[in-house]
Amino acid sequence: MRVPLIAGNWKMNTTVAEALELVRAMKDELEKVINVEKVVCPPFVSLAPAKALLEGSSIKLGAQNLFFAEKGAYTGEISPLMLAGLCEYVIIGHSERRQHFHETGDMVNKKIVAALKAGLTPILCIGERLEENEAGKTENVVTEQLHLALAGVEDLYGLAIAYEPVWAIGTGKPATAQQANGTIAFIRQDIARTYGQKVAQEMRILYGGSVNSANAAEFMPQPEIDGALVGGASLQAKEFLSIVNQTSIIKRRK
Ligand code: PEP
Repeated sequence: MRVPLIAGNWKMNTTVAEALELVRAMKDELEKVINVEKVVCPPFVSLAPAKALLEGSSIKLGAQNLFFAEKGAYTGEISPLMLAGLCEYVIIGHSERRQHFHETGDMVNKKIVAALKAGLTPILCIGERLEENEAGKTENVVTEQLHLALAGVEDLYGLAIAYEPVWAIGTGKPATAQQANGTIAFIRQDIARTYGQKVAQEMRILYGGSVNSANAAEFMPQPEIDGALVGGASLQAKEFLSIVNQTSIIKRRK
């Protein structure tokens, strides 16, 4: 019922030339996969040329961040209005932004509100740190992050969530598929309680954290996992393609 979504977060990697090369390397093969939504999120500076390259393609573009004001004296920031003509998706609240740039739940909330107002589809990232996981606080942490991020948001239409345990990001140590599925089921129940069953059942909730071509087949059969937010592995065309292809085959069987 939910169309699986695989999004590549390129983080602060690739020059414009390298980004275009990467898009070229995956474009034709990705295009052939029809039952998976495919999104690539290059750095801001590559969005416009990548958009030109992807004209008429089913591959969608996403940004990795935005600022919540529409315009003004915010040197160095990028507004939702600037992104609205360039991409459809935007990653918000990634743990690297929370950690290195001190993004608070309140800022994440303002960004979600601003993105939705501009017609962008947010991929909201939530997830617990290692010590929180070890202290058995995963559900408390994701609940708090979710409620802070979505405070005052009435219409969640289109919004996707990425459950990304911080300890699994870029470490090569993913959560187990069962753990990820369990936490995502918990998140969906929480959405159902707050926003109703329909929204919860329609919402795509992804897993993110060291997903690659070798482990994608463990995550994708899980009923609650609607795809993946992929970091490191999305920088290699073959890896990303393999994850998308495996997702397509596995989810079609379900
Ligand atoms: C990410 O950046 O969201 C991520 C999941 O990274 P990685 O796949 O490298 O763990």
